Amino acid sequence: MGRGAVSLRGVSKSFGTVVAVRDVSLEVAPGEFLTLLGPSGCGKTTLLRMIAALESPESGRILLSQRDVTDDPPHRRPVNTVFQHYALFPHRTVAGNVAFGLEMAGRARADLVPRVERALEMVRLSGMGSRRVDQLSGGQRQRVALARAVVLEPEVLLLDEPMSALDRKLREEMRAEVKSLHRRLGTTFVFVTHDQEEALALSDRVVVMNDGRIEQMGPPAEIYDVPRTRFVAEFLAVRNILSGDVQSAEVGATVVRTENGLMLRSRAAGFVAGERVWVGVRPERMGFDGAGENRVAGVLEDRLFLGDRSEWRVRAGADLLTVSEPGTSAGRQAGDAVTVTFEASALLRLVEPGRRPPRP
Ligand code: ATP
Repeated sequence: MGRGAVSLRGVSKSFGTVVAVRDVSLEVAPGEFLTLLGPSGCGKTTLLRMIAALESPESGRILLSQRDVTDDPPHRRPVNTVFQHYALFPHRTVAGNVAFGLEMAGRARADLVPRVERALEMVRLSGMGSRRVDQLSGGQRQRVALARAVVLEPEVLLLDEPMSALDRKLREEMRAEVKSLHRRLGTTFVFVTHDQEEALALSDRVVVMNDGRIEQMGPPAEIYDVPRTRFVAEFLAVRNILSGDVQSAEVGATVVRTENGLMLRSRAAGFVAGERVWVGVRPERMGFDGAGENRVAGVLEDRLFLGDRSEWRVRAGADLLTVSEPGTSAGRQAGDAVTVTFEASALLRLVEPGRRPPRP
């Protein structure tokens, strides 16, 4: 029982005067796909490296499969890590690379061949075992790196930005590959990325980190739909974030007066009359001249065409809003007067980084 569970209990780590990880506690369930998401420097890699014993925590305990491994060196921990730079042996074949860890562990030769073949099958490289690594594409090399990690049957697989060296198209292919690998293996995956799309697409649960702390964690849809802090909202592309004062806070019908005088309605929980807050709306929840309790008069300023949608910047008094519209938005042009409309349910309540909102 508990095979593949990860428990972090009050884990901290500094490098000189830089605090990389601050008192992080986290439970990862067996077989879960958990992603640590955050900008460069937020501490996600340091946290992963502590699970792998590549760094040691200053304080706190680390448990793997319910065993305290805080003082165990890397080879005594039931984990394997896939890095961004996969560091394969160029002079070895694909199979030779995958077999390396098993050889080091002193596995019998008869055992090697079927296990290597199974691992290659897992990453869809069957039949490629005799290829030289330098004859492979970037995506194939990353698959070899994955096979090399899974062949050892770790209880927890750690992945540190494994796709970030690949180009966009390959990255998207590998995303599907990693997801399917997780499904087939059933192993716990702890994945590190700064790419919000990757985190949302892959994970059972996303942990957003900021300045060494967990800022918010939850399933992807919850993180996306209900970011609780200004930091998480900004990081997850809620582009319209305004500050204001709560005029009246009635359950399901709060009115916020923004700094520039817009009166906006929200159905979010947690508002307190008189408090100063941040509110946010995703560009795709806004429209022009549509339905919705919130209506803001503005003038179109400029447009960014993004293929599947267009993003307009709209001048509304002293505020500049970003409104997304599907397609080319061909019927509109800069200078047009518009009414930006959105539902009260689209207006999020956000608190400042580091301060958690009260539980609804
Ligand atoms: P990135 O994606 O850029 O790696 P990250 O979110 O993974 O960022 P960490 O690499 O964990 O962040 O770094 C957290 C903080 O600790 C940063 O300020 C970083 O400069 C610092 N840090 C990390 N490793 C070391 C080290 N070996 N020596 C000194 N400082 C370090």
